Amino acid sequence: AETRVHEPAPQHPVRPSLFIVHITPEMAPVAKVGGLADVVFGLGQELAIRGNHVEIVLPKYDSMRYDRIYDLHEVYRDLWVPWYEAAIHCTVYFGFVHGRKCFFIEPHSQDDFFNRGSIYGFPDDVLRYAFFSRAALEFLWQAGKHPDIIHCHDWQTAFVPVLLYEIYQRLGMAHPRVCLTIHNFSHQGLIGAELLRATGLHHPERYFDRHRLGDDRYPDVLNPLKGGVVYANFVTTVSPRYAYETKDCGQAFGLEPALHAHQVKYGGVVNGIDYDVWNPELDSQIPVRYRLDTIDDKYGNKRALRQRLMLADNEKPIVAFIGRLDPQKGLELVRHAIFYTLERGGQFVLLGSSPDPGINADFWGLKRMLNDSPDCHIEIGFDDDLAHLIYAGADMMLVPSRFEPCGLTQLIALHYGTIPIVRAIGGLADTVFDKDHSTRPLHERNGYVFADYDQPGIESALGRAIRCYYDYPEHFRELMRNAMQADYSWNHPGQDYLNIYDYIRDE
Ligand code: ADP
Repeated sequence: AETRVHEPAPQHPVRPSLFIVHITPEMAPVAKVGGLADVVFGLGQELAIRGNHVEIVLPKYDSMRYDRIYDLHEVYRDLWVPWYEAAIHCTVYFGFVHGRKCFFIEPHSQDDFFNRGSIYGFPDDVLRYAFFSRAALEFLWQAGKHPDIIHCHDWQTAFVPVLLYEIYQRLGMAHPRVCLTIHNFSHQGLIGAELLRATGLHHPERYFDRHRLGDDRYPDVLNPLKGGVVYANFVTTVSPRYAYETKDCGQAFGLEPALHAHQVKYGGVVNGIDYDVWNPELDSQIPVRYRLDTIDDKYGNKRALRQRLMLADNEKPIVAFIGRLDPQKGLELVRHAIFYTLERGGQFVLLGSSPDPGINADFWGLKRMLNDSPDCHIEIGFDDDLAHLIYAGADMMLVPSRFEPCGLTQLIALHYGTIPIVRAIGGLADTVFDKDHSTRPLHERNGYVFADYDQPGIESALGRAIRCYYDYPEHFRELMRNAMQADYSWNHPGQDYLNIYDYIRDE
């Protein structure tokens, strides 16, 4: 028999580090409107921790939180970005945002694209971000940066892969591959032919083609988000279920045919949450910190929440809702759940606000109606401190959305051992598994889920949760442990995105 004296040690292939550039309209906390800002912040950090070189390119808005940018300074003075028949002169700044390396592009022109006091909401928004997309690529090219991966986000920068493959590839930028993440399908950046004139794409017949940027619903309209789907090397949205719902269940606002045509490069990755911010063990915004093996300390926060909101101190479970008061969030069901919870012997806490005065007025009416109840508190407004206390102090968190691409409230609640009660759609269906009806193993079940958007639907899940709380406290405790043990940090999504990057690099 053969004997080997020196068996070579198994070689673990060291994964090569990648140079990744995010081109994005938002990043928390300096320029944040919605969830995409948190994704860029959280994912950027996770990719860097894993040994990759990550840079983030943003517009230099006048409305940014400059107090959160460290060592902001000019790095590039002579960036001329082609625009219509001429070019716009730009300055590029560099600064750190909580350790993330960020470049900020400032154009100097009468348009004052990014000095408008707020991030969105202007008639020329589509042209503003077409300009930013062009400027970001022009910057990479002139600065001699050749990232392995360019990651762009939503309609605002979906135009980047179009410009890369139609213009910059021919100029010598043949290396980068592009990943596009769609956080929201409801805005697609529709525009007419001026997009082509502004960005230097000639041959309108080429781009109005339905296989490129031609919109499927409106003739003679260009759709930059569709362009991103067509040209990017990979397209993601923020949960696998939502990827399916957008492609196959008519929820993509007209992009369904494009998603079908490009389905081999389309998928969903559930967002992570930032466990430095949302962590009952470290949270400085709650009075009593706790972890899995001191889970009883959670009830110190329940008492504090009751004191703060002047709720009765009794044996009842607290059911909470935190969110924008938007029809997307299932407001009829939230309203119904308040009365149902009170009737079933629970307490209810709501924290939310809406830009729509009609919706706010409805909830103010509800607040007045329930003002005398010692078991209900409705807080209309945005209050981060109170949100932390509710996540820590409540027993259950309700998320009955009509649609939900990913959803963060249920992920935060899980980490605080607060049991989510959710509708089985989008990211909710991918992250919450019903205690009684899931196909998952027992230790992965972490909440209550219902399917139909109606009163019997929500009653079935909420009723079961409240019954379990009263009648089987040990089972409820088990659910809390399962919830706290699940890992919804950026760890898994970070690996998923790296796998996608590897896949498109090897194509
Ligand atoms: P969406 O992005 O649709 O608003 P998500 O569930 O993805 O919903 O994210 C909502 C985030 O905003 C969560 O972190 C939630 O805690 C927070 N939030 C929403 N409304 C409020 C509010 N009124 N006060 C404090 N935090 C809020």
